Amino acid sequence: MRDKYEVVIGLEVHVQLTTKTKIFCGCSTQFGNQPNSQTCPVCLGLPGALPVLNRQVVENAIKAGLATNCQISPRSIFARKNYFYPDLPKGYQISQFELPICEHGHLDIESDHRGAQKIGITRIHMEEDAGKLLHSDDVGAGSRVDLNRACTPLLEVVSEPDMRSSDEAIAYLKKLHQIVMYLGICDGNLEEGSFRCDANVSVRPWGQEEFGTRAELKNINSFRFIKEAIEYEIDRQIELVEDGGTVVQETRLFDSNTGLTRSMRGKEEAHDYRYFPDPDLVPLIISDEWVSDVRDGLPELPEAKKARFIKQYSLPERDTEILTAERALAEYFDACAQLHKDAKACANWVMGDVQRRRNDEGLSVADIPVTPELLVGILKRIDDKTISGKIAKTVFDEMWTTGKDADTVIDEKGLKQVTDTGAIEKMVDDVIAANPAQAQEFSEGKDKLLGFFVGQIMKASKGKANPGMVNELLRKKLRGE
Ligand SMILES: [Zn+2]
Repeated sequence: MRDKYEVVIGLEVHVQLTTKTKIFCGCSTQFGNQPNSQTCPVCLGLPGALPVLNRQVVENAIKAGLATNCQISPRSIFARKNYFYPDLPKGYQISQFELPICEHGHLDIESDHRGAQKIGITRIHMEEDAGKLLHSDDVGAGSRVDLNRACTPLLEVVSEPDMRSSDEAIAYLKKLHQIVMYLGICDGNLEEGSFRCDANVSVRPWGQEEFGTRAELKNINSFRFIKEAIEYEIDRQIELVEDGGTVVQETRLFDSNTGLTRSMRGKEEAHDYRYFPDPDLVPLIISDEWVSDVRDGLPELPEAKKARFIKQYSLPERDTEILTAERALAEYFDACAQLHKDAKACANWVMGDVQRRRNDEGLSVADIPVTPELLVGILKRIDDKTISGKIAKTVFDEMWTTGKDADTVIDEKGLKQVTDTGAIEKMVDDVIAANPAQAQEFSEGKDKLLGFFVGQIMKASKGKANPGMVNELLRKKLRGE
């Protein structure tokens, strides 16, 4: 049934900014404190209190706009979006409507079925968050409101309806997530709602130009759930249309326990909100100088970093994809590669053992106990043949636990590779003598037995015999090579 329909997806993402203070007052944005302990007349919505715009919020919005190829509006307007909700004491939310701060951007994604795609970004605007209702299950206890979150700064990033599958939606979201993390303007925590996504989903028969009616899926808090919600919604709409029904425009909630979406409310149109310019806030004027200052201060973004890693370090593209997924990890790798000539070896260690230990222990990059300097210390000892690649892993694990450097660990644990020809020769002789039948077969050309002998000798040396020398000696002694 699916192949008769084309899927159309547009996304609205709310990015909670990590400024120290709120967007229109000086209250702290810190999470998890006593309810209503971070409030003032402005964010409590008391009559007569006047909002004052936080400069850092504007700067972060400009950063986000530049990083997503948007035009930054020299003049933008704050507007009141009117609606009633108990966690919104003013009776309106300050947002931007007709003149948002950023417009006409795009992100490039790689689609599984359509190749490289440009996903349009219609606009990015600044707005304030609402408070939070705390519901009690106790009979008669009612609900309470916590306004600590009221007035917390948000960016809303609105895409064009350019995505054609749930995979494309996820690719776009991950890209946007990666960018706000690189910019350091959002903590990126989906579960806590710092990066939340509403998806507009519709279907239309192939070839039909006009869009089908869309349903909006609200506030889904993981990439996996977003995909599941969109998939469920596509099937639901197609089934509905196939049965002769029509899709109604509405807001639907995704239930991660059942994997279903259910109707929450009819979707409002913009005119329902009676937007009008907020008379308490003057138009926001942004000079070219300000924009270019912000542009100069932007960090190297993922695409540029990837291109540089390929050029500077001759890494395969697949590696750069993994290494640049997180800015901090990319910087960790970069530091290693600056200290050690073999960038590919650095990349392998970072993608392999470093990531393995880190994921096992759920650590952030900043908390990795083996610093780039320490990691490179191991690589140097592999290069000068003090240890084998295999022993290096033991050294690494010990360094991770103790925080000691490679040389100390190698010394203390007696892990120095045996490169003394006499010592290795004796081990080789012993093993040959203990296994005469296999020695005979190997000398007659049964190559498979090489592994057996190397294994025996490595065991005898507790992994410390130099494998290259062992190989060489075996061939020399048994084959006369
Ligand atoms: Zn306040």
